[in-house]
Amino acid sequence: MDSLKAAIVERVGAHRADILDLARALVAIPTENPPGRAYLPCCDLLASQLGDLGIAHRVVDVPAAGRFDAGLPRRCLLASHGEGSRAVVFHGHYDVVPAQHAAQFQPRVERGRLVGRGSSDMKCGLAAMIYAVHVLQELDVPLRGRVELCLVPDEETGGQGGSAWLVQAGLLGTDAVAMLTPEPTSGVVWHANRGAVTVAITVRGVPAHVGLQHSGVNAFEGMLDAAAALRELKREVEARTTSFRLRPDEARRSILLLGGRVEGGTNFNVVPDRVTFTVDRRFNPEEDIDVEKARLFEVLDRVRERGVALDVDVIQESVSAGGSDCDPIALALADTALEVEGRRPDFEMCPGSLETRWYAQRGIPAFAYGPGLLEVSHGPDEYVELERVFQHASLYAMLAARVLADGGAR
Ligand SMILES: [Zn+2]
Repeated sequence: MDSLKAAIVERVGAHRADILDLARALVAIPTENPPGRAYLPCCDLLASQLGDLGIAHRVVDVPAAGRFDAGLPRRCLLASHGEGSRAVVFHGHYDVVPAQHAAQFQPRVERGRLVGRGSSDMKCGLAAMIYAVHVLQELDVPLRGRVELCLVPDEETGGQGGSAWLVQAGLLGTDAVAMLTPEPTSGVVWHANRGAVTVAITVRGVPAHVGLQHSGVNAFEGMLDAAAALRELKREVEARTTSFRLRPDEARRSILLLGGRVEGGTNFNVVPDRVTFTVDRRFNPEEDIDVEKARLFEVLDRVRERGVALDVDVIQESVSAGGSDCDPIALALADTALEVEGRRPDFEMCPGSLETRWYAQRGIPAFAYGPGLLEVSHGPDEYVELERVFQHASLYAMLAARVLADGGAR
């Protein structure tokens, strides 16, 4: 392994400028989601890069569907190197959350960092994965299986036009024995994640002039009833904690966020005829989506029975997942990190949702480990340390070589 490591690190070193060029070019394309802008130019860039590097790939158009697609085209890219019936999948998303200011799409290098929207989450990770595959190809590293790239949009809005569709089409994780995604994990590996059931609740009333309020029905007061019942549920679910590692300790509680968005009414002197508010239920890997969703709906049904007219719109739902930190792939990842970075990363639960779930659901060991920092991702000053990006390119190549070597993962 030592001579292979040296060769991989040398090759990645020779491609530092190329990796940075690709990362910069990706950051400069404003693939903001929502609504899902500039997906096609970004896919074109990725496809032409894969073509230039001689990595076999194909483009998959996603049919229009789902509440977030806004009539904009969705497209995925699948690439593959090597042959055989086992695959290590490098999976990543090329959409980014909307920028706080336009300059975020003018990437710049500053003190060894690439600054710009998506630098950390996760366009530098994509560049690192692509060059990891390229380096394996260049060095002609013997692999008992394939290394695949699965590049998708729409991750930031739940995956409808990306991974969810690939699952439906039977194109996600075929033959996969391991999956890795370069989410900004701040130096730890995420092997578990929360699930989500997010709803918007609209309480309906009847409008009336303030002087005739007896003839109206106040939607705001109805909302107070619903909110009080949900607050009871919040107390109940937030008493539960996950056994997965997550820092700080308070973060281990199950979550019910009440009123993330609230809107309603027309003026102070009119009885409000509708009030909408959101509930974001994020449950732990130990909790089941069907049970938690049913519990939430049961509480709302009881509010309805008390005479409050309300509609529930499900904005998103996704399952939780919990992997093992001692299966062979987890150990291979930790060993590889030790070799490349000189330390063994901790395994923790991701505080949010994670695309590893699409793979974990099918029993494929799936992990997130990227060069970026969660703390700066989605923020106005997003950046990534370039050294970490190059290190991760080596790490990904080494991991694939290790998992697909004769004799398995270790
Ligand atoms: Zn991400």
